[in-house]
Amino acid sequence: MGQFSGKTVLITGASYGLGEGFAEGFAKEGADLVLTARSKDLLDGVADRMRALGSKVTVVTGDVAVEDDVKRVVSTGIAEHGKIDVLVNNAGVSDLRGLSAETFDTATWNWILSIDLTGAFMYLREVGHHMLTRGSGSIVNICSIMGSGASEMNIIAYAAAKGGLRNVTAQVGCEWADRGVRVNSVSPGFIMTEMVRPALEGLGMDKWIAGRTPMRRIGELHEIVGPVMFLASDAAGYITGHDLLVDGGTNASNGYYQIPPIHHEWNKGDAEKVGQGYPGIQPRPDWYQALAAGIPGLHYPMPEA
Ligand code: NAP
Repeated sequence: MGQFSGKTVLITGASYGLGEGFAEGFAKEGADLVLTARSKDLLDGVADRMRALGSKVTVVTGDVAVEDDVKRVVSTGIAEHGKIDVLVNNAGVSDLRGLSAETFDTATWNWILSIDLTGAFMYLREVGHHMLTRGSGSIVNICSIMGSGASEMNIIAYAAAKGGLRNVTAQVGCEWADRGVRVNSVSPGFIMTEMVRPALEGLGMDKWIAGRTPMRRIGELHEIVGPVMFLASDAAGYITGHDLLVDGGTNASNGYYQIPPIHHEWNKGDAEKVGQGYPGIQPRPDWYQALAAGIPGLHYPMPEA
């Protein structure tokens, strides 16, 4: 018996990426699944793998930005499984061109908003109706660290959509709080999926991201799956309207971790300590001398002004 035995979980954007990871996480804990996205072949492949884990799976293709598709996916899921206990509102798109806001075109703005915000809202509303009628259910919206602050990635529409979804989570979480339906969100940092692969692998931005993340690395798929399952589960029974940042400390650091201080490298592991230098790094002599002498204000008094 798994933690989600007897439960039905609807996952949008389940054909690949994080959505596929959520499907596997819930299936391994005994859940039955309703999986949706646009790519039928890929969805069928995911469904076969989840059935092999013992899950009853229904595949319904649809576009999250098309209202009739949303209604059809939800009603088919309920007809096939009798109920939906958990919604993971995961489907999403982005735009990695790095366009500054003043050049961001309206067509791309509308496209991103229609999927990442309006699509997520329509799923929340349609599944919410059903859950409120039953008096129970749990919804987890997938937001992003870009929904709670600015980013040099420059994706104004994505920031608007994810920030909007984060506030929708708070609003609806409270509206439905005394009717048995919890609504929370998870805001991941960077995880290697098709959405971000061109930038992270293609341009080598994974190193830049790791350099400004306190944990000094991008996240792993399972590190997002676990928090989503926690919020979906009864273990989070008194949590609603909450956004859980899963970002290796990025938000907590408030921007202070952008450049790894060079003495972190010098003092790593078996490397020789500051004072003798570190052969892997060729610091400028003045850097080295300054560090050897200590940090002004900390190791010796600042000179009188
Ligand atoms: P991904 O690998 O690109 O997968 C996106 C999923 O959404 C696919 O299953 C795709 O399936 C589906 N999808 C896209 N447009 C759709 C539409 N119009 N209708 C229905 N389904 C659609 O992206 P991901 O990285 O897994 O992202 C999943 C969620 O996590 C997104 O909401 C994203 O914003 C968020 N997120 C990701 C990261 C990250 O670093 N990866 C970080 C923060 C937040 P089809 O193409 O088959 O329709």
